[in-house]
Amino acid sequence: MTAFRRALEGLAAYEPGPPIELLRRRLGLTGPIVKLDANEGSFGPVPAAVEVIRRAADEANRYPDGGCWALRDALALRHGLAFEQVVVGPGVDAVLTYLALALLEPGDEVAFCWPTFPVYLSDAMKLGAMPVKAPLAGGAFDLEALADAVTGRTKLVFVTNPNNPTGGMVTRDQLAAFLDRLPDTVLPVVDEAYFEYVDEPDYPDALVEHLRAGRRVVVLRTFSKIYGLAGLRVGWAAGPADVVAACIKVKNAFDVSQVAQDAALASLDADDEIARRRGLVASGRERLAAGLRALGLEPLPSVANFVWAPVPDAAAVAVALEQHAVLVRCTAGFGAPEGIRVTVGTDDEIDVFLAACADVAGASR
Ligand SMILES: *Cc1c(COP(=O)(O)O)cnc(C)c1O
Repeated sequence: MTAFRRALEGLAAYEPGPPIELLRRRLGLTGPIVKLDANEGSFGPVPAAVEVIRRAADEANRYPDGGCWALRDALALRHGLAFEQVVVGPGVDAVLTYLALALLEPGDEVAFCWPTFPVYLSDAMKLGAMPVKAPLAGGAFDLEALADAVTGRTKLVFVTNPNNPTGGMVTRDQLAAFLDRLPDTVLPVVDEAYFEYVDEPDYPDALVEHLRAGRRVVVLRTFSKIYGLAGLRVGWAAGPADVVAACIKVKNAFDVSQVAQDAALASLDADDEIARRRGLVASGRERLAAGLRALGLEPLPSVANFVWAPVPDAAAVAVALEQHAVLVRCTAGFGAPEGIRVTVGTDDEIDVFLAACADVAGASR
């Protein structure tokens, strides 16, 4: 008998949706499918990145630069950090795993608010560490409750800002007060996967305001969301040099492809395009939320490129929308089974989604 590690008991495999072509055949759909279920957004890579990606084929026989030197160097320079404070991985997903492998012993605790991004929970469980959940407040992390959940066994605490799947953010004052309260045995990790979308004066930049100010904190950023590179897998962390060194010890040698590194590097000069995307998403988000309210739903306030709304029978609603060629996420896997998360798409995609919602609501009356 094969004996699997006990830590795997009670762990469910992450269930991504079916590939889009399979879904198309299964549902007998012929037209376009509106994909609003994974927060990648509808923007592609920026033009300079597309250029680099096109040229990458000829070098595919070579291993990538295992140290991600050029990209780390550029990120460090751009953000006023030392090179030794930056680690790059194949997505923030992988960087989260580095942190878990570097820090967690069986029995250690990992605290976060819930519902949230489920990888913090699954990474902890894979290693036999204990996830500890505090509540959200209005769709954002409740940092007082989270600080209260910290014990002598807590190793890591996550702050998802803004939170996925609910879209709410914690403010500058809230984050600073929370970090002040943490004992120095706890490493705080601020997940800013949606950083570039946020345009609120009260939104804290943890990299500048805390890490660069000398605090022991890890800040996560990704090229998967506003930069449109989700398919290439590239994300990064900024943190204290000893934490980065530990992450580099546990990472796989060549885990970030050269095309991903080069495309990320080529994306860094696209500030105008990123600002344009931020503006388009902000207005799309308003339209999407207004449309949901017109249907009688009550979406939570969001500062990200998605909106979450409580919906009865959310799983059935997601399936019904699928029949209309619209994909949204029932957030059961995030701890919020009674709601759907909808990525802000283009104006046309928002129209198709809202029309499909009206149909589905009509059919269930
Ligand atoms: C999307 C997302 C990530 C992971 O993104 P990668 O594609 O792995 O870089 C991390 N955290 C949150 C909260 C996210 O929503």
